[in-house]
Parts: sequence; structure tokens; C-alpha cells
Amino acid sequence: MMVLMDVAVILLLALAGLSMGSFAGATVWRLRARQLIEDKKEGEEIDKEEYKALLPLSKAPFTARDRSRCLHCHQTLAWYDLLPLVSWLSTGGTCRYCRKRIGTFEPLMELGTAGFFVGSYLLWPEIITALDLAQFILWLLGGVLLAILFAYDMKWFLLPNRVVFPLIGVGVIVAGLRIFTSADSVMALIDVAAAASVLSGLYLILWYVSKGKWVGFGDVKLGLGLALLLGNWQLAFLALFLANLIGCLVVIPGLVSGKMKRGSHVPFGPLLIIGFVISVLIGQPILQWYFTAFL
Ligand SMILES: [Zn+2]
Repeated sequence: MMVLMDVAVILLLALAGLSMGSFAGATVWRLRARQLIEDKKEGEEIDKEEYKALLPLSKAPFTARDRSRCLHCHQTLAWYDLLPLVSWLSTGGTCRYCRKRIGTFEPLMELGTAGFFVGSYLLWPEIITALDLAQFILWLLGGVLLAILFAYDMKWFLLPNRVVFPLIGVGVIVAGLRIFTSADSVMALIDVAAAASVLSGLYLILWYVSKGKWVGFGDVKLGLGLALLLGNWQLAFLALFLANLIGCLVVIPGLVSGKMKRGSHVPFGPLLIIGFVISVLIGQPILQWYFTAFL
């Protein structure tokens, strides 16, 4: 009986993840369209092709009436074009109307978010009380925002405030719940503050010293959101360490093979997000292993 329950929950989470991933993917394009309009207003140089392709997406952003459109032919998409994964697979990754390739971005967002939802459930501590459930749902919500930030920063080296601020908002709620329900609220508060110093404070210093060259201010704000969600300074250190480790694993082969040049731009947001997710889901076992192995 228990197993059947678990399977049902996992299926439900996979479906929810696919839908939320689809939403996250569409949001990435809409945010980009808005960004281009704002850049144009401010007289910045923008890619005219990209602007023309994305402009129709910005007409009615974030409303229920706003249907997604094909980026190539601007055809408004019907409900059966918007089924996560199924629509993409049914047309072999092309637009039903103009037959141009859609690319793998949408299905990757959908699969990634579904994987995140299911993986989180499998690795999450047992959910017993309503508070546990609330914390888990907040975590999934934070994950959707992180999926948007991850993709946006990979594509355009920017972490838009329209997503970072809601993430910080979710972080404040999560940290608040943790502090008020903790047996030792003062310690919990200190832990949150320490995590914020590690993840956000360090970037703030780097940003200040380098005048924004080494890290962007977006990383400082992202670090704050992640620290609030973590609420634990040891896990914050681990997240930072993993981000740098993964960064090295990506950059060094790139430098050696000559695909990357010194001074090539590596977006730090996605690395930090990966390090953070690993820390939350399996950080405690990693720390335990580290302490027994080396201390
Ligand atoms: Zn099309």
C-alpha cells in the first residue's frame, strides 16, 4: 500500500514538474523579450533579429490570456502544442506550423524540472506534519524560480531581478519558518545570518573590490536568496565549494582544449545553483563523510 502511494506521488510530481518546467521555459523567453524592450528604450545596442523574434511574446506577459507563440512564425500555439514533452516529441522537435526546429531548450527545461521535483521528493526527509509539507512545497517553488535563473544566466549572463526578488521572498518565508519553529530560535537566526555572510557577503566583497568585474551584483542577490533557503552556514560553505569545484571541472578542460580563452565569461549563477541544490539534498551526508574521514 505504501509503495503504491509513493508511486502515485512520484507520478504526480513528475507531471507537476513537466508543467512547471514548461512554464519556466516560457517565462525565460518572456523575460528576455521585456529585457530587450527595456534595453532598447535605454538606447543600448540590441540584436535586431532577436528583438523582432521575441517582441510578440512581450505583448501581454504573465496573463492567463497570453498564449505562447512560435519564435519563428509567431503562430499562436493551441493547447495541444503546449503539452509538456508530448507536443515536442509528437512533432520531432519542430513547429507544427512552420516546421522550423524548436531546439532542445523546452524539453530540457521540462525534464530538468520534473527530475528536480521527483529527486527532491526521494531525497527529502519524511513529510509528516503540515509544516513539513509547506516547507517541501516552498522548496519546489524555489526550484522553479531557480530553473528560470539557471537558464537565463546560461543564455545571457544575467540574473533578472523579476525572478531573483521572488526567490529572496521565498527564502525569507523558509528562513522565518525555520527560525520560529526551531527549539533554539536565536541559534537558528545566527545560522541563517552566517549562511548569508558566506554565500552573499563574500560575493559582496568580491563585487565591491573588483567593481563588478569578477562577479555581478546579481550573484550577490542570488547568494542571499540561496542562503536564506539553506539556513545553515556549513551547507553554505559546501554549496560555494561545490560551485567552484564544478566550475574548475568545466573550465579546465575548456582551457586545455582551447575551446575557452582566459577571460572567457563563465556564468557563475548556474554553478552556484547546482552547488546549492546538491547541498540541500545530500549536503548532510557529504559533510558527515567529510568529518569522519578527515577530522
Ligand atoms: Zn513556427
